[in-house]
Amino acid sequence: MKKDKAIVVFSGGQDSTTCLFWAMERFEEVIAVTFNYNQRHKVEIECAKNIANELGLKHHILDMSLLNQLAPNALTREDIEVKEGEDGGLPSTFVPGRNLLFMSFAGVLASQVGAKHIITGVCETDFSGYPDCRDVFIKSLNVTLNLSMDQQFVIHTPLMWLDKAETWQLADELNALKFVREKTLTCYNGIIADGCGECPSCKLRKRGLDQYLSSRKEF
Ligand SMILES: [Zn+2]
Repeated sequence: MKKDKAIVVFSGGQDSTTCLFWAMERFEEVIAVTFNYNQRHKVEIECAKNIANELGLKHHILDMSLLNQLAPNALTREDIEVKEGEDGGLPSTFVPGRNLLFMSFAGVLASQVGAKHIITGVCETDFSGYPDCRDVFIKSLNVTLNLSMDQQFVIHTPLMWLDKAETWQLADELNALKFVREKTLTCYNGIIADGCGECPSCKLRKRGLDQYLSSRKEF
């Protein structure tokens, strides 16, 4: 696989940055693609740009601002508060079909640049339960993309069955723990690295990191 080309769906966050390192270890050429849909914080796009630049990767930023028209919500509208889902429901950050759209555009880009592999950091064990992040959806989409473009794409989901602590562990195994910890942005309040410490995303990230670091000390 070392001579193949790969596209990584990349947001500048912990998960997709870990996926970049995962892909760089396996493929000859790695191309990052970021979707710009008027994120709450423009700093997200800047953060993604800086990371791709520092790693010397080609980086495509695709305009997906139409998503804001389709599904105004907490990530794209400043007047809606970010909340965790109640009673196991989806959080207010949910945009129906977002990942379906992103992965389809990633497939079009992969076809155009001649990349066989598409990597996404989606995770079924994640807290949010987005239906288009589930393993069965990704497998179904892989078939659909291949049929739609007469291609033999392979979609990789290295984080699919990992919890946050195991995702930190993977970054560590890729010698990227420090990089991911210091340069990525997952905070809903737009603060890079350890973030605000208060929002659901920061809490999840910190819980995973603490869990991983304490398990590492035991060895
Ligand atoms: Zn935060």
